[in-house]
Amino acid sequence: MTSADRYDVVVAGGGPAGSATGAFLALAGRRVLVVEREPFPRFHVGESLLPATLPILDRLGVHKAIAERGFQVKYGATFHDQESGLEHTFYFLRDKPWPSYAYQVPRAEFDALLLEHAKKLGVDVRQPATVQAVAFDADGVTVTAESHGQRTPVRARFLVDATGRAGLLSQTVGERERIPNLGKVAIFAHWQGAWRAPAPDEGNIRIYVFEHGWFWWIPLAADRTSVGCVMHARTVHDWGGMRDALYAEMIRRCQRVAEGLAGARQVTAVHSEANFSYRNRPVVGDRFLVVGDAIAFVDPIFSGGVHIALQSGELAARSIDRALADGRFDARRFADYERRVWGGLHPFFRFIHKYYEPAFLELFLQPRTAFGMLDAVLSVLSGGAFLRMSWRTRASLAILFSIARVNVWVRRRAGQPVASRLEW
Ligand SMILES: Cc1cc2nc3c(=O)[nH]c(=O)nc-3n(C[C@H](O)[C@H](O)[C@H](O)COP(=O)(O)OP(=O)(O)OC[C@H]3O[C@@H](n4cnc5c(N)ncnc54)[C@H](O)[C@@H]3O)c2cc1C
Repeated sequence: MTSADRYDVVVAGGGPAGSATGAFLALAGRRVLVVEREPFPRFHVGESLLPATLPILDRLGVHKAIAERGFQVKYGATFHDQESGLEHTFYFLRDKPWPSYAYQVPRAEFDALLLEHAKKLGVDVRQPATVQAVAFDADGVTVTAESHGQRTPVRARFLVDATGRAGLLSQTVGERERIPNLGKVAIFAHWQGAWRAPAPDEGNIRIYVFEHGWFWWIPLAADRTSVGCVMHARTVHDWGGMRDALYAEMIRRCQRVAEGLAGARQVTAVHSEANFSYRNRPVVGDRFLVVGDAIAFVDPIFSGGVHIALQSGELAARSIDRALADGRFDARRFADYERRVWGGLHPFFRFIHKYYEPAFLELFLQPRTAFGMLDAVLSVLSGGAFLRMSWRTRASLAILFSIARVNVWVRRRAGQPVASRLEW
């Protein structure tokens, strides 16, 4: 083997999707290089994990190390609507193939731990190094990575794009489709000494819906809390002032958040993210495949991002390992991967779109156990619907969405608002 043929796979991006893809491939005995632009640990948004993620961490062999870190455990998600006063806590169920809890993780620590684990499994990591260019040919791919001003070509048989929202391939050979909701902006920071719910709810993610959007309230270990506001575009457009002042103003307008932060101290700068709703193409091609946020992202309301990143990474590694085994890398053989990923994303996307409709939110906050509806909602909220959805869950969700359609009619007759807030 020449040095030009060194790797089976180069993975661009060392976030959860890249680390998982690399680690699963290493477990299958493949030679992998992960190229990560940022030095770790680095701040990243997306701190609330889902229960169905934990079995993936088990399969990666990293769950024990994560459990030993003492991350905050969460047993559920509490939603509150300021306008109607409705509130509901969804507790993850016990009789599922995934546990009834998950973790709230500072991503700087979590992402570093995953990448470190990949290294222990034999993955080479080049960091900080940025993938600048990729060139495919009949025998493989040449990846040009730049580090400290020096550009180095690396040769591999296959490329994985795990570059998150940067979307390396969509920005170079493909396209990015913006999807409605595009105007939403998130602003967030960490706090020390914020309010804690009594046990067992102290670790729950809390979602506070109010006129201008919604807040996430994610309790982290060591008395830290991540507090972020996802605002409608119109709220941001109407605001002429600075970002920090907008954050403070949103806190003031959301009563539960203002009360919970009374006496707390902001301990990080205010960060922001905008334009986070898109669908990228292509997802697969001759000698490449895309994982995690580099495929698509819509909205963080149901905390699905890290789960999607890890699950797509595992599925990708399986497909690539098979392709490496028989030496065929044409796009068609990855069609099944693409189908499974879009199939897994579908329930999240459907729920996100529905969540912004007042008629659905009203039902969501008063869930019914009839026809298995609560169980079906919990399957999606746990991340368990990504890999497979039983016909029973599908049927229950169909009933729920039908009732929501009837509720639109009921609300309209009662003169209550029905317009979706998705594109506000
Ligand atoms: C406002 C907001 C709130 C969110 N909240 C949650 C939440 O509570 N729970 C949840 O699960 N998810 C949440 N998410 C989503 C979550 O952040 C992402 O889905 C998740 O980080 C995706 O992982 P990834 O590995 O695909 O991408 P990333 O984690 O973004 O990793 C991509 C990596 O690629 C690197 N990179 C980029 N370009 C290059 C290049 N050219 N060369 C080399 N490296 C490169 C980057 O430095 C980065 O480290 C939220 C997202 C937003 C916008």
